[in-house]
Amino acid sequence: MDSHEHEIRHLSELNRRKFLQASVAVSGLMVMNLLTENSALGASSSITLPGFAAFSRSVRVTKTSKYYLVESSGMPDHQMMVGIKSWQQQIPTVQPYSGSNAWSIPVKPVISKNPISGNGHFLRGAIAIAVNGIPIFNALNNRGDDAYLAGELDDWGGHCGRADDYHYHIAPLHLQKIVGQKAPIAYALDGFPIYGETEPNGAKITGLDTFNGHFDSKRNYHYHGTKRFPYINGGFKGVVTEIDGQVDPQSLTKAFRPAGDPLKGAVITSCLQTGNNSFDLGYTLNGSEYHVKYTATLTNVDLQFISPDGSVRQESYVRR
Ligand SMILES: [Zn+2]
Ligand SMILES: [Zn+2]
Repeated sequence: MDSHEHEIRHLSELNRRKFLQASVAVSGLMVMNLLTENSALGASSSITLPGFAAFSRSVRVTKTSKYYLVESSGMPDHQMMVGIKSWQQQIPTVQPYSGSNAWSIPVKPVISKNPISGNGHFLRGAIAIAVNGIPIFNALNNRGDDAYLAGELDDWGGHCGRADDYHYHIAPLHLQKIVGQKAPIAYALDGFPIYGETEPNGAKITGLDTFNGHFDSKRNYHYHGTKRFPYINGGFKGVVTEIDGQVDPQSLTKAFRPAGDPLKGAVITSCLQTGNNSFDLGYTLNGSEYHVKYTATLTNVDLQFISPDGSVRQESYVRR
């Protein structure tokens, strides 16, 4: 978190330069807008990090001396939720992964003398961030079970947590087609990249360690996403700080409603985006079709629970 504050202080100089350049050409009011905009983002100009470039319209990467900072809404541009057979009644909503709450990837990863397994560790929070700005959690859910084998994940390897936050629990291998063979599909939070099912040069992968990683010919370490456990980085070969069972720093997200219970027998069949921040999630239960229609921004959430007979229950929340 220190580095974030440092970045904001550092920014003032950049803004001053921008101010000097801009004040020549534009009115005072416009300059004010420019300054406010930059200050709100809290960081200097975007940089490119392999993989992220393909998502530059929705994901912003900046750099401090210590971390790459990744800003996103936490919402992917692919469909979500369809295919989940074990559902806790949580839904995807936008998340405040920006400014001082951006995801942090160490700029200079360091091999640890005591690497930590993901088995029994890091069962809370993210352990990696995908290049489309979606966090990736341990393949083991918070109860220590394989979330994929338990049927908790959608066709893209994701689902939602208690803060109605969408995240993956396995490698988002579907991103490889978008980023290309040479680029990583994600970065572990120790800073090492996660490639897909081949080496960046197309070669077959050999000799993965228990963390799903290995060294290349130049003695650089990286992980791979695989179709089998641990799917992603199975812990950390690199140095990370573990606080309360999760990697620190960690972007925060807050629940705005009581946690949902498992809805036994429910299968999610559709999740249509009906507006900027609006969705219509459909599921079947005991042969009948139910819907959750909702609009969620960073400040307000309005939900409609629609039963097969057409009756509607409404819930509204203010997010803090
Ligand atoms: Zn989860
Ligand atoms: Zn490799």
